[in-house]
Amino acid sequence: MKFLANKERGNMDCLFCKIAKKEIPSSVVAETDNLLAFRDIEPQAPVHILIIPKKHISSTKELSKLNVEILGEMALLASEICKQENIEDGNRWIINTGAEGGQTVFHIHLHILGGRTMQWPPG
Ligand code: 5GP
Ligand code: ZN
Repeated sequence: MKFLANKERGNMDCLFCKIAKKEIPSSVVAETDNLLAFRDIEPQAPVHILIIPKKHISSTKELSKLNVEILGEMALLASEICKQENIEDGNRWIINTGAEGGQTVFHIHLHILGGRTMQWPPG
């Protein structure tokens, strides 16, 4: 059996890596070479979409000068999706980091929420 580094093994077990590779089905709303956008399975608003990079990055903690460009790509796709979903004048983008920050899937993702009035402060 080939020896796998922990990081590689982690990716194989990662839910969003499997969704990115279409090994687990999702309701896809947009796709680019580097990104996949799909509907959240437990929507917290009438529109709740997640954008993920196809390449595994576990959280914002792992961002560096080498990979931070992907965040710009995610932002541009998020803007397009907000127009597509008719929520461009009222929406919220969220990235949770760490368990205390509300992160449950450790593959970086941008939540897009819309279609209802948002509360502040968030919970
Ligand atoms: P986090 O809590 O890490 O910021 O967000 C993870 C999100 O992924 C949650 O909103 C959760 O509902 C969503 N999620 C978890 N498992 C699945 C799944 O198998 N498919 C889809 N489409 N969304 C999922
Ligand atoms: Zn992953």
